[in-house]
Amino acid sequence: MLTKVVYEEARRRALEFLYRAGIAVSDAEKENIEVAEYGKGDLDSIGLELVVYVNTDRCCAKELVLFPGQTCPEHRHPAVGGEPGKEETFRCRWGEAYLFVPGERSENPQGKPPAGYEKHFSCEHEIVLRPGDQYTLEPDTLHWFRAGPDGAVISEFSTKSRDELDIYTDPQIVASQARTL
Ligand code: ZN
Repeated sequence: MLTKVVYEEARRRALEFLYRAGIAVSDAEKENIEVAEYGKGDLDSIGLELVVYVNTDRCCAKELVLFPGQTCPEHRHPAVGGEPGKEETFRCRWGEAYLFVPGERSENPQGKPPAGYEKHFSCEHEIVLRPGDQYTLEPDTLHWFRAGPDGAVISEFSTKSRDELDIYTDPQIVASQARTL
């Protein structure tokens, strides 16, 4: 678990990144910035800050903030009750991000798993996302992503988000406890 101080600092810092990206958020959204630390208590390495704009039965939109080098750990979105899992599109708005998906191993990847966590990262095909670049993941596709040296702001457009059902490669990450809120 994060201390209250670390948590509040992460929220404040996430807001700075959103401003830098030129993204306007309402006061209510500022209050609702979430911090995901995935039960690791190591937010600089494994973590993500997010603003959820909408999440209905049919669609979802979020803004994701990653601090420099911060990583969203490898996971997938499985089918639920006969419905396919979540389909996700990531569009980089600011900074640079390295998205890893199944496929041929990239020769000289710009991103790599955070030190000490390598065994829980298996996807080695890298997609570099810079402002204006986007990539769509089919449901149930394993993936992870990491911010470049300046951090990243990424818009996420998807079908319904059921974060509590996500499956992580690291068996210690329990999706329902991934967020501190
Ligand atoms: Zn995902």
